[in-house]
Amino acid sequence: MRYKKVYGLIGWPVKHSLSPLMHNSAFRYLKMDACYKLFPLKEDELEDFLRNLSKNNIFGLNVTIPYKEKVIKYLDWKSASVRFTGAANTIVVGEENYLKGFNTDGLGFMRHLVYDLKFKLQGKNVFILGAGGAAKAITYQLIRGKVRSIALYDIDREKAKDLKERLNQQDKACVIRVVSSLEEVDFKNIDLLINATPCGMRKTDPCPVKKDMLHKDMFVYDLIYNPIQTKLLKLAQGLGARTSNGLGMLLYQGVLSFKHFTGKYAPLHIMERALKEAVERLC
Ligand code: NAP
Repeated sequence: MRYKKVYGLIGWPVKHSLSPLMHNSAFRYLKMDACYKLFPLKEDELEDFLRNLSKNNIFGLNVTIPYKEKVIKYLDWKSASVRFTGAANTIVVGEENYLKGFNTDGLGFMRHLVYDLKFKLQGKNVFILGAGGAAKAITYQLIRGKVRSIALYDIDREKAKDLKERLNQQDKACVIRVVSSLEEVDFKNIDLLINATPCGMRKTDPCPVKKDMLHKDMFVYDLIYNPIQTKLLKLAQGLGARTSNGLGMLLYQGVLSFKHFTGKYAPLHIMERALKEAVERLC
């Protein structure tokens, strides 16, 4: 079947993505002549693919690992969050293949945490594991939410230092600290602990923090959504802490991308239902 408008996800690998289910359910619900496809791309195919989007009837793309940073040089226009993070997860294709880049990961996280889960950010102390693409997008929004402090830890200390410098340029009020080991963190004062590393995706992964670093008064948010419950979340729940996996963030980053793609408000509940059904099948 040929659709008037094609959207999709580029990355490698992409076959496990839940994005087609989310977006296609929205297109069907809104009776739009559009479809969302997976485009697994090898790195040497990326440039040619991006240069010919209009020709191939492609009006918008989501971007995942490992291309969020690699697509930047092909963009004709970048949103403020793309300029800050140096990464885009959404590309809107305009006339004559004019490419606009957005990053909806950070706002997707915020929508879920602040609006759905009612977590109040102002004045809070945050600890974030990982300083990669997702951590950059999230911390960019956290300082806008007026958190008091952010402690950053990444296996690669240079990445954490680079993120600290970028954040300091954005905001002087928030105290940003890079730690070299988890032992340097005063966990009893941490209100929000975020796992923005892939640690926990595989069954054999260890919990990225020790049990005695968690406590019942902290909120633990793990960006991972498959598995639904990581070792980190299980441990935190066992102590009575509030927790969330990354499914809500996935939903909202998709909802925000949909608006960029189509100019229409996404049917949130339809997309949410499609995601939930897919996750139930995964479990
Ligand atoms: P990324 O750019 O690769 O960043 C992850 C960073 O964490 C890397 O610098 C990595 O270092 C570091 N790291 C790995 N294990 C660590 C550990 N145990 N302790 C400290 N640092 C560690 O990846 P990303 O794109 O930011 O994604 C991070 C996670 O978020 C992934 O699980 C991804 O699936 C998830 N995510 C979820 C959503 C959502 O919608 N829910 C959206 C975006 C991302 P090395 O590179 O040296 O390993």
